Amino acid sequence: MSESWEWQHQAACLAHDLALFFHPDGERGKRRRSRQDMAKAICKSCPVLRQCREHALAFPEHYGTWGGLTEEDRDRLRDHRAPFGRRVRRTS
Ligand code: SF4
Repeated sequence: MSESWEWQHQAACLAHDLALFFHPDGERGKRRRSRQDMAKAICKSCPVLRQCREHALAFPEHYGTWGGLTEEDRDRLRDHRAPFGRRVRRTS
């Protein structure tokens, strides 16, 4: 599947530290949620949120916050969308 990446030129996250969008090794609990909330707040005002979210769900992106969804959010969405009750889970 090919994809245009033109939308990324308008990404709100380009003006921020991308470390907000990807968790460091071993990050857990309140610290992780706090970082994810900051990333989601940036996504919320991003003009290409829809394109980013569609990309992350279609390809899929396994790590980081994309389109206002954390990797856990995306896993839950994929589980919900899987046909015939099949669970689609990442293996890594
Ligand atoms: S929706 Fe979030 S992760 Fe996606 S391009 Fe916009 S700011 Fe970046």
